[in-house]
Amino acid sequence: MMNRRRFLQAISAGAMAVPLRSLWAAGGDRVVVVGAGILGSSIAYHLAKRGAKVTVLEKKAPASGTTADSFAYINASHKQPRPYYELNHLGIQAWRRLQQELGPELQVQWGGAVEWRAAGEGSEKLLTTLHQYQQWGYDAWQIDEEDLHRLAPQVSPGPVGAAAFYKEDAAVDPVQAVNLLLRKAREFGATVDYPVEVTGLDLADGRLRALQTTRGRIEADLFILAAGIGTPPLAKGAGAEVPLSTSTGVLAHTAPLPALLDRVVFAPGASIRQNSDGSIITSGTFEGKTQEFPNDKSQGQALLENAARFVPKLRGVQVARVTTGSRVLPKDGFPILGFDENVRNLYIAATHSGVTLAPVIGQFVSLEVLDRISVDVLQPYRPARFARG
Ligand SMILES: Cc1cc2nc3c(=O)[nH]c(=O)nc-3n(C[C@H](O)[C@H](O)[C@H](O)COP(=O)(O)OP(=O)(O)OC[C@H]3O[C@@H](n4cnc5c(N)ncnc54)[C@H](O)[C@@H]3O)c2cc1C
Repeated sequence: MMNRRRFLQAISAGAMAVPLRSLWAAGGDRVVVVGAGILGSSIAYHLAKRGAKVTVLEKKAPASGTTADSFAYINASHKQPRPYYELNHLGIQAWRRLQQELGPELQVQWGGAVEWRAAGEGSEKLLTTLHQYQQWGYDAWQIDEEDLHRLAPQVSPGPVGAAAFYKEDAAVDPVQAVNLLLRKAREFGATVDYPVEVTGLDLADGRLRALQTTRGRIEADLFILAAGIGTPPLAKGAGAEVPLSTSTGVLAHTAPLPALLDRVVFAPGASIRQNSDGSIITSGTFEGKTQEFPNDKSQGQALLENAARFVPKLRGVQVARVTTGSRVLPKDGFPILGFDENVRNLYIAATHSGVTLAPVIGQFVSLEVLDRISVDVLQPYRPARFARG
């Protein structure tokens, strides 16, 4: 028999499934999660860890949606207003907790982020924003050129009017994280099925009885939609509005390179980071100018050349692939999280900044689903706000 101390150690290390104490009012603990992106995989992991019988249904393959095309920066900086900043801050802390639970296999780059602007080109705004986050207690501060060089020795910043270091920020390989979370979920008894596309909902008496899928009807006690941009049409089947804006983002990726960057770099007009496999990932704004590109590859090469203005070792490097991701961007910019108002065994989870938020959302969704607790900080993000118009 396991003694109390070892039992508690095992729980805190995430080494075992914890039996469900409270089954929800509906009875039964079979949960289906639709979508195996960062959100679905984190939710599945957190539920399975608590002992729920989890099945993940994915129409293509794990991490084949927006998650694969994400810059995957983990941050609370640049997040407004304060309640949303706080949620993202909890997101960072939840990544720390996951790191402890999953160990070094989870490859988070805990290096923070540096950002700078030339004098007169947004440097005052950078400092005003920084001071705002400092007032909220964020571990971030102004740095000088010497600090910038020490933190990012491979960076040639050009003229620096103001610079900041956001120490708590991080980045992760989102595809690796999804695969690890799903593997751990499986170790706790979850099933991950793909390719299985959910095509419709079987509703009766205000409850979702089963999903119609390309592999037939799949029944469960509770259903969670975490299907990214695939969520709105599915939710519509239950009469729920999940309004998303159409928004895409292009990233250029190189082949793996020797170590260049220990932290995320925000240069004027370029976001640059190095993934755990050594590849450089960059996006940019081209300093506000709109440019035409004959194809993705040339756009990717232009992004890389833009980044090379600040990281000279990127000069002459060829782009290996270019991704265009569709943001899961709710119409008001904020997460959509909670039970559907009419179909009470249907939970909806759709958000931008989903990489930052995935671990804390997984944690909170498992509380809401398994313990029927309403987590306070999720109150502003309920799906019902759209139903009210
Ligand atoms: C260019 C870009 C940069 C970004 N940068 C950041 C960043 O720096 N930091 C950050 O935190 N966030 C960032 N984001 C946002 C973040 O990537 C997303 O919020 C997150 O990946 C969403 O994850 P998801 O699991 O909800 O969706 P997805 O990853 O899209 O997963 C949904 C899954 O559901 C599956 N699916 C869809 N429909 C069905 C169906 N009917 N049946 C079965 N399966 C289905 C899909 O195949 C997909 O695998 C960025 C996004 C983009 C596009």
